[in-house]
Amino acid sequence: AKSAGRDTLRFYDPQMQAAVSERAALELDMRAGLAQGQFELYYQPQVDNGRITGAEALLRWRHPRDGFVSPAQFIPLAEESGLILPIGEWALQAACERLALWAQRPALAGLTLAVNVSPRQFHQSCFVPQVLAALARAGAEGSRLKLEMTEGLLLADVEDTIAKMSTLRSYGVGFSLDDFGTGYSSLAYLKRLPLTQLKIDQSFVRDVLTDPNDAAIARTVVALANSLGLDVIAEGVETEEQRAFLARNHCHSWQGYLLSKPIPAADFEQLVRDYNQG
Ligand code: C2E
Ligand code: CA
Ligand code: CA
Ligand code: CA
Repeated sequence: AKSAGRDTLRFYDPQMQAAVSERAALELDMRAGLAQGQFELYYQPQVDNGRITGAEALLRWRHPRDGFVSPAQFIPLAEESGLILPIGEWALQAACERLALWAQRPALAGLTLAVNVSPRQFHQSCFVPQVLAALARAGAEGSRLKLEMTEGLLLADVEDTIAKMSTLRSYGVGFSLDDFGTGYSSLAYLKRLPLTQLKIDQSFVRDVLTDPNDAAIARTVVALANSLGLDVIAEGVETEEQRAFLARNHCHSWQGYLLSKPIPAADFEQLVRDYNQG
């Protein structure tokens, strides 16, 4: 009876039906995958003035049949289905536990860890207590944790957003504005938010040496960060020339394939030891 029903639908719109069942299957797989420990955090080093000072945590999903599924594929679906809430909470907890481990190793104790926060996750009423509970359970310092938010997220319910950010700031938690320059926030509005860092989007870094507009945008973000008293970091740095351009323009903090793609925790920790001692 079930397959007959499916065939009926297929008769009306085969492509849409295929897409719907593929998404439904992926959603089921994701739910099971979370329960079975198939999600993992990878770490991409962030360099500041020639030293690794932290990392960005990036989700990886090791699907038992399909291998690694890219976050570009599953994050949007997780957002729509609401699964981003348990997944995001898991990522936050895992990140805090990693920070607590680092705090016990002299070579790693000063590192910060940036975690991506989805709009839906941030706008839950329990978001602030969730972050504080994750820190407390792990025994991690708020001042080592950075939350990466996107402009879109910050546009909804400004007062509530500022209140949440301010509370977490009082525990030392930092806020980095991800993908900066790709959204629509006004400067007047930006100024009101208790951010600690702007992140120059990789779309501007990519052609920074050849496209005068991208170069101008990169310089402008650096100037803006300076005048607002914020840190600035560039993402997607792939070449020495891009890194040098950014440094000449007073952006000394960066991450990208030039040093490393996101890697497992143990590899990242070894990289920090090797890179920072020399
Ligand atoms: P994002 O936050 O903008 O992360 C940067 C992406 O650029 C990552 O892709 C990273 O692997 C990639 N990347 C890093 N360096 C370079 C480089 O030099 N060149 C190029 N071309 N790419 C580089 P990834 O890991 O596939 O993540 C994609 C997106 O998925 C992230 O974009 C973020 O929006 C989302 N995401 C990942 N983990 C999480 C998470 O834990 N929670 C939430 N809500 N979103 C996440
Ligand atoms: Ca990010
Ligand atoms: Ca980004
Ligand atoms: Ca992005």
